[in-house]
Amino acid sequence: AKHNDKNGFRFYQEGMRSELLDSKFLEQRMRQAFEKNQFVLYYQPQAEMATKKVIGFEALLRWHDPEEGFILPSSFIPTAERTGLIIRLGKWVLNEACRQCKDWQTFYGSNIRISVNVSVIQFLDPAFVSQVREALEKCGLAPSSLELEITESISMLHEESCLRKLDEIKSLGVRLSLDDFGTGFSSLGCLVKYAVDAIKIDKSFTQSIQSNYKNAFILESVLSLAHLLDLEVIAEGVETEMQYSFYLGLSCDFFQGYYQAPPLSAAESSEWLRKNMA
Ligand code: C2E
Ligand code: CA
Ligand code: CA
Ligand code: CA
Repeated sequence: AKHNDKNGFRFYQEGMRSELLDSKFLEQRMRQAFEKNQFVLYYQPQAEMATKKVIGFEALLRWHDPEEGFILPSSFIPTAERTGLIIRLGKWVLNEACRQCKDWQTFYGSNIRISVNVSVIQFLDPAFVSQVREALEKCGLAPSSLELEITESISMLHEESCLRKLDEIKSLGVRLSLDDFGTGFSSLGCLVKYAVDAIKIDKSFTQSIQSNYKNAFILESVLSLAHLLDLEVIAEGVETEMQYSFYLGLSCDFFQGYYQAPPLSAAESSEWLRKNMA
């Protein structure tokens, strides 16, 4: 069935046309869509906790199919990863996001950052580090303006080569953040091991505060530990005033979520910047 989610997208869930779920068919459709430039980036503002001032955006991929409408990443990223298409797609995301950020910086100031999600498959690609370097060089974006979001699933890799690669990426001067923090199992260990600059508290964790007060205690200690380790903390999925106040009270550094803004088109993001950077 078609739904209208909070972002106003038509998207398909369980009722999605069965051919779309057929992965061979989906793979073919995705390759064609890629050739036809049907992938677009949406951008969700990230803001400083205390002031609500925008610090940057997270780039979020959408597939704009002329018939189906906007298709969300959960419907196609797994297939893109399984087929390896994520490598080309991810490279495109990286270039497009950097270009867009550079564009915004020209108009609204060089402090604006861009965060890009990196699939573990992409991370594994031997060409990944040079792709990041090239994306930055191509548009002249300062490395410190780019943040790469990795997940702890990279820890399924051979540890030594994984840490070496993270160091290599760090030495480009880009920022690294650990995405979906709180959903896995080795989370706290990751904090010390990986050279990340920030952790992103997963939205399911944010949403769990109301239903289980013990999660509030866990978050409180995660935040103080993160700060002790000199890590910044970004709260994800902040939808309500209550959730915002909760994180504000814990001296969380940044937040993103519907409370501030949903993911926006490039044009809407520029408009949003114009209104919020005054
Ligand atoms: P994520 O990295 O955890 O991204 C945050 C997701 O939460 C986004 O879903 C965003 O639209 C949604 N969101 C934002 N604010 C709120 C809120 O207040 N409440 C709730 N309930 N949700 C909120 P989206 O855009 O559907 O992306 C889903 C996932 O797909 C992302 O999760 C990320 O893991 C992956 N993804 C998105 N773009 C890319 C990409 O370019 N490359 C790769 N490899 N993965 C991507
Ligand atoms: Ca993310
Ligand atoms: Ca996340
Ligand atoms: Ca996620």
